[in-house]
Amino acid sequence: MRIALVNPTWSFENSIDVGCRSPHLPMDLGACKVLLERAGHAVLMLDGALDGLSLADLAERVADFAPTMTVVTTAPTYLFWRCAQPELRVPRAFLDALGTRGGRTVAVGPHGSVTPETTLAKLACDIVVRGECEEMVTRLAGGGLARLDAVPALAFRDGAEIVVTGGPAATGFVDLPALTWPDAWVARHAHHHRFDRAPEGPGAEVEASRGCPYSCTFSAKIDFRDTYRRRALPNILEEVDRLIAQGATYLYFIDEIFLPQRPLLEALATRKVEFGVQTRIDLWKPDMLDLLGAAGCVSIEARVESLTEAGRALLDENCRASTDDLAERLLHARRPVPFVQANLIRVAGDDPALAAAWRDRLRAAGVWANDPVPLYPYPSSPDYRRLRGEPDGEAWERAHAHYLGQFDRFSDIQEERPAPLRELEAACCPA
Ligand code: SF4
Repeated sequence: MRIALVNPTWSFENSIDVGCRSPHLPMDLGACKVLLERAGHAVLMLDGALDGLSLADLAERVADFAPTMTVVTTAPTYLFWRCAQPELRVPRAFLDALGTRGGRTVAVGPHGSVTPETTLAKLACDIVVRGECEEMVTRLAGGGLARLDAVPALAFRDGAEIVVTGGPAATGFVDLPALTWPDAWVARHAHHHRFDRAPEGPGAEVEASRGCPYSCTFSAKIDFRDTYRRRALPNILEEVDRLIAQGATYLYFIDEIFLPQRPLLEALATRKVEFGVQTRIDLWKPDMLDLLGAAGCVSIEARVESLTEAGRALLDENCRASTDDLAERLLHARRPVPFVQANLIRVAGDDPALAAAWRDRLRAAGVWANDPVPLYPYPSSPDYRRLRGEPDGEAWERAHAHYLGQFDRFSDIQEERPAPLRELEAACCPA
């Protein structure tokens, strides 16, 4: 079968400001591609930013390929499924430009994972995949398109009805083969996830583990990338070596929590590449932090979230370290690693003066600490369920309204005030 995989050309005017907007490799589509090609299918993978194409250009390229199925993602790569833009206007605009020329249209991403019917309606596509998508897309290509009701984790229309075949899928992941990327994409991938100096060569993203053993209340992980899985080391290293051969000098591990893993760090230490990670600093002992630095880590984004033990308990972080321990661990990390950032989240009851003093202490010692940011209560997070109950067809609208309400108090977070979701999605079908 011929299948097109499309990461549309994103734009974020008046949207929320929660993630890095530079282009990244579309890991979700790359994982689909490797499984589809292994099953013998012909795949066209396009990325609006990395290919330098507008939405209309993408639609033309897909139409020329004449696929039986076109898959579009609703978040700009797996890295941002946890902090996606809430609005679906960009994938909808791509699908509108494509019309009927792409065969059956399939949406994958965080939106359809939690609110499949709404996403199907807003995008006016044929099928929504719920949860991690690569194995479900491969099943669709392997005969599933003809028997949608036999494929789990889908939503589709059957006459006037919408059928949902099951809850969100989780990929095996452990044996995910090495992903492959076009040379031109790696060459154009200038962005590095570090902020202490300008990039000196191409960067790329890699995934060594998926999911997280914790369940912080604000974390959008209920419907995807939930259970922690570690990928086979030979597959990771094959992918890493290929990227280095393509010129990458920096890798960013998109793992939601890069846990200490001696064999991986020792293997990276023998390679000429730098890398960045996001993790929880309380899970790293000093000797492993030293190994992390020796392996080539140049950037750590460490979640501290709240500065009080009561605040961390409120966020359900299951963190046993004291606030002083966390500071010590961050300062230790800063010795072998040139850029260390502590991410703080604003929790009701936290003392702004305490946050400012702690931040200043760390900054004086070379550890960057942001001002505490407000939370977006993603429908896939425990916080959403606590605030609003189970997500329904209006879940994204409710989450957005809640966030805008906080924004009135935290207007220093983002230069531009985000617009209401209905305004951002004016071009989408009403839910
Ligand atoms: S540690 Fe908490 S915030 Fe981080 S990925 Fe795990 S559940 Fe989410």
